[in-house]
Amino acid sequence: MLKKYKYAIIGGGFGGLTSGLRLRDFVIFEATDKLGGCGGYFIRNGKIFNVGATTIAFMGKNEYSKKFFESVGLKLDFLEHNKAFDIIENGKIYNKISELKSKGIFNKLYENFFSIIKYLGHFFNLVNDKEFDDILLISLQRKTPVFRIFYELSIDYYKSVWAIFKNGYYDLISQIEKKLMENGEVLKNTKVLKVIENKIITNNGEYYADKIIFNLDPWQVNRILDKEIMKVPNEELFNAIVIYLEIEEAEKLSNFYFLIKDNFRTIHSPFISIFQNGTITISGHYKKFYEDKEIDKILEIVKDVLKIKFKLVSIADKSAFEKYTSRYKGYVGGLPISYKNLIFSLYNGRKRGNYYFVGDYYFPLQSLPSSIIRSSFFLK
Ligand SMILES: Cc1cc2nc3c(=O)[nH]c(=O)nc-3n(C[C@H](O)[C@H](O)[C@H](O)COP(=O)(O)OP(=O)(O)OC[C@H]3O[C@@H](n4cnc5c(N)ncnc54)[C@H](O)[C@@H]3O)c2cc1C
Repeated sequence: MLKKYKYAIIGGGFGGLTSGLRLRDFVIFEATDKLGGCGGYFIRNGKIFNVGATTIAFMGKNEYSKKFFESVGLKLDFLEHNKAFDIIENGKIYNKISELKSKGIFNKLYENFFSIIKYLGHFFNLVNDKEFDDILLISLQRKTPVFRIFYELSIDYYKSVWAIFKNGYYDLISQIEKKLMENGEVLKNTKVLKVIENKIITNNGEYYADKIIFNLDPWQVNRILDKEIMKVPNEELFNAIVIYLEIEEAEKLSNFYFLIKDNFRTIHSPFISIFQNGTITISGHYKKFYEDKEIDKILEIVKDVLKIKFKLVSIADKSAFEKYTSRYKGYVGGLPISYKNLIFSLYNGRKRGNYYFVGDYYFPLQSLPSSIIRSSFFLK
């Protein structure tokens, strides 16, 4: 007999996890042995490393992500980091973010959508200041020119309170997982192969659900349903290059995040995250290929500017992300922000019958807070 649930969630990335936190009587199918996807973790030499995402924004009092976690009964233990990150340029470290002024537009728009009228001018003015390209690439997956509203929202993002967990996202995921088990089931090592109406066929048997939530990229959705219900993006997207280091010796650092500003040709906005458990995750964007000499330069900066002695543990690029997250061509950047992509992704990911779509292809702001927004608006 088929095991039945009210909801089946396919994919245990943050889109699926934040959906599950809102539901009862559900099952989450996760293809690998760990939850989290691009925001997951792995263990090497007895140490926990972050696969990709390392921090979460809007975690201050009355800020959006924190309120969400509290509303689902999660009490998270983290350090607040208010100035977002320091920038490393020409061997010097400085902070630019703390100088930027935030108007708190994100929370205002979220809490009162009609306040949009107040910001109409921002919707049509362009910002074309190359100085901000590196930080905008991380938050918006694109560089200038951008419409002012997106730029302002990015500043909100950087000026909000960022959370740092001792062991990175492992701490967050373990708490979420515990909470999920109270109201549903989590099946790891269970890859969904096909969905036929309400029947879900996996490598571990068949299941039935009234409603099915796909936390998968549009290419996979089409493959699993065996029909072209999703339009796939026709632009080339960013891949991630991620370097994992183990700290051997370090001077006391006053910060945890560093953005490297350099004129690299192939790796864009490389970003260093340092954890109290003695691990480092460095991630950057690239398209098509990257040059090894740029990786060497990044490692030199860790050694010479941050004065950290380390052991190189591993490097992941598009083939590793394709293998471990099943994302098409290893694309992990989501869609670059633009009005066109906003409309495209929201329309593409609209509810169809009993099928729902969550995750970063259906809300083009690649981050954990955006998965939370997506699941809260679109599961209704
Ligand atoms: C290098 C990097 C750094 C980042 N840094 C940050 C950051 O610091 N802060 C932040 O907020 N965001 C960050 N992000 C963005 C954030 O990680 C992603 O937007 C978010 O994790 C995407 O979640 P998702 O659920 O949409 O997709 P995914 O994480 O891709 O999750 C999909 C899940 O589905 C599973 N799956 C796939 N196919 C199947 C199948 N057939 N059956 C069952 N399971 C399946 C996969 O194994 C995976 O676990 C970063 C992303 C990257 C790549």
